[in-house]
Amino acid sequence: MKLKNAREIEEGTVLKEGTSKKNKTGNWKTFEPVVDFDKCIHCMKCVMYCPDICIFQKNGKRGKNDLSMCKGCGICAQVCPANAIKMVKRK
Ligand code: SF4
Ligand code: SF4
Repeated sequence: MKLKNAREIEEGTVLKEGTSKKNKTGNWKTFEPVVDFDKCIHCMKCVMYCPDICIFQKNGKRGKNDLSMCKGCGICAQVCPANAIKMVKRK
């Protein structure tokens, strides 16, 4: 089942596991994370805690987000010890 947005899901619906890759849950969010790489200390906490595995690391450094998968939950901003992530309203 391919869904365009959350409103298409009826109450009580059970979705098949592993579908977020197909459904691009990033389209549903209201807020999105913006990273200040000048503040980032590359601790990788956000990488570990992101429930949608949309933050990547490259060569031991924190990389960019894949916002097409990000739900805007704000967990990354909450766990960041350097206060390097701000949640901003999506345009
Ligand atoms: S807002 Fe949530 S889903 Fe998006 S990158 Fe942060 S932890 Fe991951
Ligand atoms: S949690 Fe904050 S400091 Fe750590 S890698 Fe993520 S953005 Fe950088």
